[in-house]
Amino acid sequence: MKDGLTTMARDALHFINGEFTAGTSGRTFDNISPATGQKIGVVHEGLKPEIDAAVAAARAALTGPWGYMPQAERAALLHAVADEINRRFDEFLEAEILDTGKPKSLASHIDIPRGAANFKIFADLVKNVPTESFMLDTPDGNGALNYGVRRPKGVVAVISPWNLPLLLMTWKVGPALATGNTVIVKPSEETPLTTTLLGEVMNTVGIPKGVFNVVHGFGPDSAGAYLTAHPDVDAITFTGETRTGEIIMQSAAKGLRQVSMECGGKNAGIVFADADMDKAIEGTMRSVFANCGQVCLGTERVYVQRPIFDEFVARLKAGAEGMKLGASADPETNMGPLISQEHKSKVLSYYEIAKAEGATVITGGGVPDMPDDLKGGAWVQPTIFTGLPETARAVREEIFGPVCHIAPFDTEDEVIKMANDTDYGLATAIWTEDLTRAHRVARQIDVGLAWVNSWFLRDLRTAFGGSKHSGIGREGGVHGLEFYSELTNVCVKL
Ligand code: NAD
Repeated sequence: MKDGLTTMARDALHFINGEFTAGTSGRTFDNISPATGQKIGVVHEGLKPEIDAAVAAARAALTGPWGYMPQAERAALLHAVADEINRRFDEFLEAEILDTGKPKSLASHIDIPRGAANFKIFADLVKNVPTESFMLDTPDGNGALNYGVRRPKGVVAVISPWNLPLLLMTWKVGPALATGNTVIVKPSEETPLTTTLLGEVMNTVGIPKGVFNVVHGFGPDSAGAYLTAHPDVDAITFTGETRTGEIIMQSAAKGLRQVSMECGGKNAGIVFADADMDKAIEGTMRSVFANCGQVCLGTERVYVQRPIFDEFVARLKAGAEGMKLGASADPETNMGPLISQEHKSKVLSYYEIAKAEGATVITGGGVPDMPDDLKGGAWVQPTIFTGLPETARAVREEIFGPVCHIAPFDTEDEVIKMANDTDYGLATAIWTEDLTRAHRVARQIDVGLAWVNSWFLRDLRTAFGGSKHSGIGREGGVHGLEFYSELTNVCVKL
């Protein structure tokens, strides 16, 4: 094919028990490019029969070769998956760009390499992380030995979002497979392609049939709802909106299935007057505008200490106005479109809400003028507001676009209160050259991830997740292994 993608990926088929299939629902929907508004291909929608087939395949695979495979062999296969993604790097890159429109420079540095790395890191972790053991005294003096054994949880449902499609999906599939589970992935309806391609990779490297399955579709009354309600699914790992997480938890309650929830955020950036201004501007630019602001860890509330407030606002404005929106392949492009027209409407509605609430528009606030070939895309201007009260909806609700509100503060205590005055608790970025203050403030912000003088600097061995409405549980490193396995304590009386 001209673009190098196989028909299977282009016509996003389900991948069930090692085979690509259109299923029996007879339903498809169009995959639309967010950059141009043009149709890219079709996606097959899975309903109950497709989910039933995928869950049955995943269940059967647990007792097949995968179930008996020595850990080292399983780890080697997962390394091979990562190597094969890297070998087919250009196809994955193209698929991710078709689905999201994001700049090639971003997808080639973050989405695809991290998407591959997720398989290696967890394969290595499983081999190297010990379990606990305790000697217990007993009255006869012989004692008892306790030791922990990790077993797979079973059939794991993976529900993933559209903002970093390959990366966030493999962030779950990597540890799930490394710990011996089998999975059914329901990727976002907006971004089906890289997950479909991964099915080809699984077959190429010899992952046994049924271990990795993909069913496409929507959430309610579609593949997502049927998958999360399926009684033979043992655990559900979800990344997406808090509202969707609440619905999935209700499904999971039946049968007491465990959930891992990575949800929304309304993250605060805190810039103290003693910050290195260049670093703070560079980091805040990325945290507000990277991936067109569609990053759960992104900063939508920026608090700047009063003596440097005007300078900071002016410099962030200059940065925003220097952003190059455009075609993914253009090396100059550093901002892509939003994911869809629907999301564009949502983000633009918040721009209007902010104005109606009395915001000062420092820059942006509308739709950019794009060249003819991109006019049909979901483009919005990078936007900065000031002047809103902390009670404003635009300051409290997750917008998930290239936008922030900047507010001044005077004291450390005041900014800690402001940062914590939110329903969410995912991430913060603190900018200061005073190390003592940095440590003191970081531990007082009610979030799962606190960065000091950086943003999105990720060591995959560390815990990832949020508090309050931002999620339940932690993934990453040993924490991922805990969610994806059952720990059995074996007690041996000596
Ligand atoms: P979303 O909740 O709309 O969709 C996520 C997934 O859930 C999709 O695959 C969707 O089809 C599925 N889904 C929707 N309704 C469902 C239902 N009733 N049953 C089962 N599945 C259902 O989220 P999104 O718009 O794709 O992603 C953006 C959101 O994700 C933002 O809120 C963002 O903050 C959050 N996010 C969080 C993290 C994190 O790690 N905390 C990472 C990325 C994105």
